[in-house]
Amino acid sequence: MSLLRSWVESANAPDHPFPLNNLPCGVFSLEDEPRCGMAIGDFILDLAALEEEGVIALPGGSLLDVPFWNEVMEAGPAVWADLRAQVTGLLAEGSASRAEVEPHLVPRAGATLHLPFLVSEYTDFYAGRNHAFNVGTMFRGAENALPPNWLHIPIGYNGRASSVVVSGTPVRRPWGQVKGPDDAVPRFAPSARFDIELEMGAVVGQPSTHGQPVTVAEADEMIFGYVLLNDWSARDIQAWEYQPLGPFQAKATATTISPWIVMKAALEPFRTSTPAREKPLLPYLQEPRPMLYDIALEVGLTPEGGAETVIARTNYAEMYYSAPQQLAHHTTSGCAMNVGDLLGSGTISGPTKDARGSLLELSWGGKEPFPVAGGTRSFIQDNDTLTLRGQCKGDGYTIGFGECTGKVIPALADPYAR
Ligand code: CA
Repeated sequence: MSLLRSWVESANAPDHPFPLNNLPCGVFSLEDEPRCGMAIGDFILDLAALEEEGVIALPGGSLLDVPFWNEVMEAGPAVWADLRAQVTGLLAEGSASRAEVEPHLVPRAGATLHLPFLVSEYTDFYAGRNHAFNVGTMFRGAENALPPNWLHIPIGYNGRASSVVVSGTPVRRPWGQVKGPDDAVPRFAPSARFDIELEMGAVVGQPSTHGQPVTVAEADEMIFGYVLLNDWSARDIQAWEYQPLGPFQAKATATTISPWIVMKAALEPFRTSTPAREKPLLPYLQEPRPMLYDIALEVGLTPEGGAETVIARTNYAEMYYSAPQQLAHHTTSGCAMNVGDLLGSGTISGPTKDARGSLLELSWGGKEPFPVAGGTRSFIQDNDTLTLRGQCKGDGYTIGFGECTGKVIPALADPYAR
């Protein structure tokens, strides 16, 4: 696929993240009510205003004057395609509608971006082969790095929707119960090993019925789009609490997502297969067609007042399990999925040292501090800003996600002070 040209000139630059091919879905406000918009070049198209004026019409009435995309998602894949087609027509080079659309372009630089959807529930997986092997090696040794179930099942845990925040939200270093190798007894302290996890998030746009599992193909149809996702993780809390039921407080501080949902249609040209299976999967997990995407990812770390260092570069195509496989597996129990469910992919690490999607791996458990501008890091220091970026490279255009960023602010002096 090549660049779709728009009369919004900035959208035609080959490296701009928001060309007409992208049209990602966000929620924005100026000094007024948050509402639905799509990014196009350096602007946001105010979809709520266009719907109100009747320039855009969707079946089911007004879906875009609300501060979330859930109503559009609920309307189903035919409406998703309809909306994209209408907006593409309005913004295409030579469009006869330019005069009525142009007043509803808002400069992106002046807008506030909000969480793009109401997160109904949040599940996080552990589906990156390199990440699972690296972490397993550190925690249990290379012999037992991958748990015996890992090549057969997408491992996950149920997270908290309430902890999901939009890019730019500061993240306070948490306190928690820890017990290090030198501690005779557990203690309650600010996390000293606070970390990121570079992930993609799949946004579920269609529900499933309680009691009825879905196939991988059906699961793919249910997904509305994808965001960047940083699953902040307190490694010292995790190490003490994680057996036998998995992470709990270590992962509950915050999960940051990028402000734009990139719809599946925009990613279609970048579809790619999961890696070769090391063990055959049970039929219900087998993919009828490619279900991953070729998305180049990077992580930047910026100390307070300093320059950014890119500390990792990897690709979403490294995942062993795709989001449709994870979603299909999620429903095997009969668990119902809802509009607005968010699925974290699991940390995306590549095979090389500079492709590791967490500081835990980059510093090998703190044993090998790595260089950043003005010093070194093993784990995140106070006032560091961590930024995730992702992009797909098409023929003369780029599909970007917008940044997924968060600054880690110091722990409370005393979390129980009243
Ligand atoms: Ca995670």
